[in-house]
Amino acid sequence: MPAGLLGIEPLERAEIEAILDRARGFQPGGDHRVKRSDALRGRMVVNLFYETSTRTRTSFEIAAKRLGADAISITASASSVSKGESLVDTLNTLGAMRPDAIIMRHAASGAPHFLARHLPTPIINAGDGTHEHPTQALLDARTILDQRPSLEGLRVAIIGDIAHSRVARSNIHLLSKFGAEVVLCGPAPLLPAQFAQIAPGVTLTTDMREAIRDVDVIMMLRVQLERQHEAAFPASEYFQFFGLRLEHIELAKPDVMVMHPGPINRGREISSEVADSQRSAILNQVENGVAVRMAVLERVLSN
Ligand code: ASP
Repeated sequence: MPAGLLGIEPLERAEIEAILDRARGFQPGGDHRVKRSDALRGRMVVNLFYETSTRTRTSFEIAAKRLGADAISITASASSVSKGESLVDTLNTLGAMRPDAIIMRHAASGAPHFLARHLPTPIINAGDGTHEHPTQALLDARTILDQRPSLEGLRVAIIGDIAHSRVARSNIHLLSKFGAEVVLCGPAPLLPAQFAQIAPGVTLTTDMREAIRDVDVIMMLRVQLERQHEAAFPASEYFQFFGLRLEHIELAKPDVMVMHPGPINRGREISSEVADSQRSAILNQVENGVAVRMAVLERVLSN
């Protein structure tokens, strides 16, 4: 891996496999005890979040602490960013504190890449605009592989606001590198035709039933209202056509896994019955977020 982790697209399969294998070692064992280590004692990581986050920020913080590192979190609204400091000035200030890594979330696609060009510090992308969210795709892959022997040949439907989803992009790259088939589905304005070209094995449909038929995994996405400039679909209409309900589950493979990166909007893109059902792996995803981020931090900081 280069100095940090900016996206899934540039990674080799072997690098992804190494992270996923290492993450398995950080999952709680049969005794449910949390795994800790001192591997990063004395190191400091900074969480720099320009957009809201619950799961990603806390799990990076927990991951750093379980490895013995010091972790501090800066949220844009509570920092000088809200006083008008430019990104470059904020970065120079942070750089002068000599963190060992910066974990960054930003509404602008490419912001972590910009940071990586200007600072000698390794940068981990925790979500940049509509571009990538690499640790989400890694934790999703870990979650699937906890229940399936391999990603090869799996059929995965990703449903919702594809156009604005960094989760979709990172997952498409990862799943495609491992030979899975990816069916993207959503309302036509949120399903750009170019997505069929971004990686091998990707197809598009606006018909949810067609997308779900015989799939191994269904990944639901939140409608990214904060990234849409057009009038939003009325919630009830969206749910009628693209909301995942129990009746859909029967169309998929009997052991289908239902996933969602969160935050979930019950009654908008997923029904409560499905979100809370036996088929739902949503909380497994959250749990794997810590193990995967431990593996990423260890790898980035041991360079
Ligand atoms: N938490 C994910 C992200 O940051 C998904 C979402 O917000 O809908 O992209």
